[in-house]
Amino acid sequence: TEDDFTFAQEYAAHATYAIDNARLYREAREAVALRDEFLGIAGHELRTPLTALQLGLQRLVGESAVPGEAARLAKWAATCQRQGERLGRLVGDLLDVSRITSGRLPMVLEEMDLSALMEEVAARMGQELEKVGCRLVMKLQAPLTGRWDRSRLDQVLTNLVSNAMKYGQGRPIEITAGATPEGVRLRVRDEGIGISPEDQARIFGRFERAVSERHYGGLGLGLWISQQIVTQLGGHIRVESVQGQGSSFTVELPRWVED
Ligand code: ADP
Repeated sequence: TEDDFTFAQEYAAHATYAIDNARLYREAREAVALRDEFLGIAGHELRTPLTALQLGLQRLVGESAVPGEAARLAKWAATCQRQGERLGRLVGDLLDVSRITSGRLPMVLEEMDLSALMEEVAARMGQELEKVGCRLVMKLQAPLTGRWDRSRLDQVLTNLVSNAMKYGQGRPIEITAGATPEGVRLRVRDEGIGISPEDQARIFGRFERAVSERHYGGLGLGLWISQQIVTQLGGHIRVESVQGQGSSFTVELPRWVED
């Protein structure tokens, strides 16, 4: 009868409502779990350089009292500086997340040479690369000029090279940069652990890290932030990788973007 039909319809509507509620509840619980996991990781990541910094400062203070210890003092001072920079990058990444999600990551455009910037980044990271015995092979077309945000591109390049170093198993890293008909292309390639196809689809997400690589440490924000920057500059970033053989990250950028 018509009554039965109406009843069935209402019943179905209620059931859908209940299923929707259950889904929302599950999603909220997952979000809370992800947040709690992230806070744990973030706390741990921030504490590591902080502990090293505190230890370094302790040594600096202790040994400054000993005459003729200038070389050792300099070594501890350098350690403190490096760990302080690392801490600064972590805090910077956290602040960038809130800047991006609230739509406030302004680009400061200026005419610059991408190859020169790449050389700068490589020089800055030289010591760290040496420490893990990793060789950089640079194939840069110079100059490679365009109008971009210098410090934001510095951040993208630093992130890609430090990832290549972190996951590269000490094997050589190749960096190529050159002009394309549409703009410029930059590629950072390592011969390290590689990324599975499933993880390749996830790693550009916020807080996302390859499931199998949790022991490497990191907040899982670098690639997400890099992608946001590259997109804001009108370009895109992609990964190609074979697990166990290495990864290659490619950034394509137009030379000019509107202010
Ligand atoms: P993280 O701080 O965890 O390195 P990123 O956003 O920079 O965060 O990278 C996200 C994840 O992508 C990493 O946790 C790692 O699993 C994977 N990844 C990034 N770069 C590489 C690479 N060169 N080789 C292998 N895995 C990589």
